[in-house]
Amino acid sequence: MAMAEKRLRAPKRAPLFALVAIALSLLPAPAWSASSSLPTVVIDAGHGGFDRGGIPGQAVAEKSMTLDVALRLRRILHDAGYRVVMTRDSDVFVTLGDRVRIANSYGNAIFVCIHFNAATRAGANGIETYYYSNQSAALAANIHRQVVAGTTSENRGIRRRGYFVLRRTSIPAVLVECGFLTNPTEARLALQSSYREQLAQRIANGVMNKRAPPNRAVVAGLTHVVPPVEQPFNTNDFVRAEPERTGSSHHSSKSSKKSSRHKKSSTSTTKKKKKKTPESDE
Ligand SMILES: [Zn+2]
Repeated sequence: MAMAEKRLRAPKRAPLFALVAIALSLLPAPAWSASSSLPTVVIDAGHGGFDRGGIPGQAVAEKSMTLDVALRLRRILHDAGYRVVMTRDSDVFVTLGDRVRIANSYGNAIFVCIHFNAATRAGANGIETYYYSNQSAALAANIHRQVVAGTTSENRGIRRRGYFVLRRTSIPAVLVECGFLTNPTEARLALQSSYREQLAQRIANGVMNKRAPPNRAVVAGLTHVVPPVEQPFNTNDFVRAEPERTGSSHHSSKSSKKSSRHKKSSTSTTKKKKKKTPESDE
């Protein structure tokens, strides 16, 4: 190993710009950065108004946490030179259809939905990130790795799911679940402004395609799937798994069919059917 190290150091004075160029060439080119100009970032704070998000009886309102992180993310991205559009910037209800229409009205744009998770099992915890179209997978991976690296929460993996806001958007679209507000530890963290700032900074890093350290392994029991993008690191965060939450008004459907399906344990991934998730259109 010592020899290998020496060999690597052999060309003593490789000019810095050459090293930077090599490093940059090794990074995958994400779909949304094909254009030279920065993309517009459409930030979608989940829920709002009468829609508190989460599950009935949940102490910490999801809609407030998502809005706060979204506003912080707006500030960070704006300061970094991005054009930022909010689907909501106050405590109002916006239909999923309107959120999608806003997103689809921008070209060279990406769509980032901020949510927090909920489950009837208080022990459920961790970060999960959703995408639907393959053009969104690299963005999902970047954001997910950043957010997981910035927390002590479990890595619940990157999941493909046909949520309305992901399925109906024509631009790269990602939905981040920033932890479980029904988990005492994660709820306590979410109530700290410094933690929400950290979440926003991490999501921004993902948007800006900053490199994240290798992730912790995903929670045991989740089934890995072949990622639709070239993996920039030697980790496999793409998983196939049912969401854990039950009875949540997340992202669209309130149908009893859906909530009963969610009652299945999240670890019973093996018999998951390959069907598209029917989301109700609002
Ligand atoms: Zn939500």
